[in-house]
Amino acid sequence: MLSTEKREAIIAYVASQMSQKRFEHTLRVEQMAVYLAEKYAVDVTLCQYAALLHDVAKEWTMAQYEQVVGMFKLNPELMQFGSEICHGPVGAMATLEWYDHHESVKQAIMQHTIGAVEMDAVAKVLFVADYIEVGRTFDGVEQARLLAEKSLDLAIRYKLKQTITFLAKKGTVIYPETVHAYNSWVNKKLGEDDWKKVKKY
Ligand code: GDP
Ligand code: FE
Ligand code: FE
Repeated sequence: MLSTEKREAIIAYVASQMSQKRFEHTLRVEQMAVYLAEKYAVDVTLCQYAALLHDVAKEWTMAQYEQVVGMFKLNPELMQFGSEICHGPVGAMATLEWYDHHESVKQAIMQHTIGAVEMDAVAKVLFVADYIEVGRTFDGVEQARLLAEKSLDLAIRYKLKQTITFLAKKGTVIYPETVHAYNSWVNKKLGEDDWKKVKKY
C-alpha cells in the first residue's frame, strides 16, 4: 500500500491537473486496481501509482504534449493522433519522479490506452481497472467485469476487441499499435480452463 503521505501528495498534484469528473474516475480506477492487485497477487503499491497517475496528462494542451515529447524524445507521430493517444506516454514520462522511476509503472501508464503485445502484471491491472472501474456504464462492461473475475488476460483480449470495434464503427483513425496489440492478443493462447468457463466473449 502507498503511505498516506505519499498518496495524498500524489492526489493533490493529480487533482490540480484535471477536472473533478476525471479526478473521480482516477480514484475509482485506483480502487479497482487495488482490488485486482490483491485478487491476482500483484504489487499493490505499484498499481496505485499507475492508477493515480494514468490520466494525469489527459487534459494538458498540445503545447505541453509537444514539450514532453521533445524532452524525452518520444515518437513525434504520437502528436498526430491527439490527446487520446498522447496522454499515456506523455503522462508516464512527465511524472517519473512521482513514482520513483519504477519501470513497471512507467510501462503501465504508457500502455494504458492502447495496450501492448507484452504487458506485465501492473500494466494488465491498470488496463483492466481503467476499463471496468465502477463508474463505467458502456455496453459490454458487465461482460468485461465477469471476465476480469476469471482472468486479467481474458479481460484484456475482450477490451482490445471491443475498443477496435467501437473505433471502427465510429470511423475513427486507429493507431497502428492498437491494431498490433489487438492482433497479438487475438492469437494468444490464454488459460483454456478460464476460457471454457466463459460462454460468450
Ligand atoms: P480514459 O483516458 O480513461 O478516457 O481511457 P483511455 O485512455 O483508455 O482511452 C481514451 C480514448 O482513446 C478512448 O475513447 C478509446 O476508445 C480511445 N482509443 C483507444 N485506442 C485508440 C486508437 O487507436 N485511436 C484513437 N483515435 N483512439 C483510441
Ligand atoms: Fe487514459
Ligand atoms: Fe482513465
